Amino acid sequence: MTHNVDPAELAKFDALASRWWDPDSDFKPLHELNPLRCAYIDEHLNVADKAVLDIGCGGGILSEGLAQRGANVTAIDMAEAPLQVARLHALDSGLTINYQLSTAEAHAEQHPAAYDAITCMEMLEHVPDPLSVIWAVSQMLKPGGWAFFSTINRNPKAWLMAIVGAEYVLRMLPRGTHDYRKLIRPSELKRWAEQSDLKGINFRGIQYQPILRQFQLSQDVSVNYLLACRKSDSE
Ligand code: SAH
Repeated sequence: MTHNVDPAELAKFDALASRWWDPDSDFKPLHELNPLRCAYIDEHLNVADKAVLDIGCGGGILSEGLAQRGANVTAIDMAEAPLQVARLHALDSGLTINYQLSTAEAHAEQHPAAYDAITCMEMLEHVPDPLSVIWAVSQMLKPGGWAFFSTINRNPKAWLMAIVGAEYVLRMLPRGTHDYRKLIRPSELKRWAEQSDLKGINFRGIQYQPILRQFQLSQDVSVNYLLACRKSDSE
């Protein structure tokens, strides 16, 4: 179960968990990103009544967005405290979400070809081996199923915006949230998706407007970005 997990990463999220649903906390960016990433998913498929897995769900901001759309959501994470917060918050929201402590790889062993869609957002840059997670995603998708990822690009601009800007200047995120070396270029994510039999790769950028202090979807993938792709149908 501890394969492909970085305990130091989990400890960061455990320590902050109680403030997960405070929109003015360290999780403010996730709250602000959520409508945009849900809109991006909506562009590709209607998740109502679909079996959806949310990997690295944390306190459940995206999981709840999916459940509100009528998806049948299972959500996994390896940090205990965020999962506890997620379970309590779902009760408050009147949503039924199946939260479980698991890695993507362990869940994949029990649930091959089980999901219509899988989301894995702001998580790949916190694991030792992102390809292993993407491979597990592919194993868990039904033929033609959709995968949605989001992460942060690795280049000087991303370093300036996502680390110096967000952690040191605007103080949107605690210092040390992101390690530059673990950020992921779109070309790398594309290669890993293709190696995992995921096709039809589509990228979308998320731009931060520092003056408006708002995120918006864009074609510019130089900092934050999303990726949609599909499990091959030919099986
Ligand atoms: N996906 C959520 C939360 C992102 S924060 C959202 O975008 O709203 C990153 C989450 O990934 C944290 O909750 C952390 O505990 C989780 N995580 C990190 N490594 C993990 C691993 N190996 N397996 C499962 N979850 C992991």
